Amino acid sequence: MTRPPFEPPVPREVEAVSRQLGRPARGVLGIAARCACGAPVVVATRPRLPDGTPFPTLYYLTHPAATAAMSRLEAEGWMPRFAALLEGPLARAYRRAHESYLADRESVEHVEEIAGVSAGGMPTRVKCLHALAAHALAAGPGVNPVGDLALERAEWSPSRCECDEPFDAAVP
Ligand SMILES: [Zn+2]
Repeated sequence: MTRPPFEPPVPREVEAVSRQLGRPARGVLGIAARCACGAPVVVATRPRLPDGTPFPTLYYLTHPAATAAMSRLEAEGWMPRFAALLEGPLARAYRRAHESYLADRESVEHVEEIAGVSAGGMPTRVKCLHALAAHALAAGPGVNPVGDLALERAEWSPSRCECDEPFDAAVP
């Protein structure tokens, strides 16, 4: 798990993210979470892409097994179930997660068009488990309660490598 400031990505990390996304990765700030093998799991992206487009999703889940696991939870109906839990302390924690997300992004760059907009439905809705799990993986346990719940339910975990080709961070 990594929050700003990020280590600048090396070319093979950007290549790995591009392979995972199936398109050239743009505006990569760094790798915010990794698989046990070192492969990128969450990419941190600039709040303004090189072409000027505002990009609110600071933490984006890129690892195919991780994104598939979150898609599965969404298909199984976990988003409304998690949303129904957002009362009392959990609702307050979810709002703090939203504020923490914005603080991380603001520390990189303020982009007026997306001011106050975080990701995944925060601070009151649950709209994308991929974005919430990405935040939880970057920030570590205890920051994003819904992201934490999604990761607990998921069949995938960053601690158990399921990569087709394990990524050895030691190789340049
Ligand atoms: Zn791996």
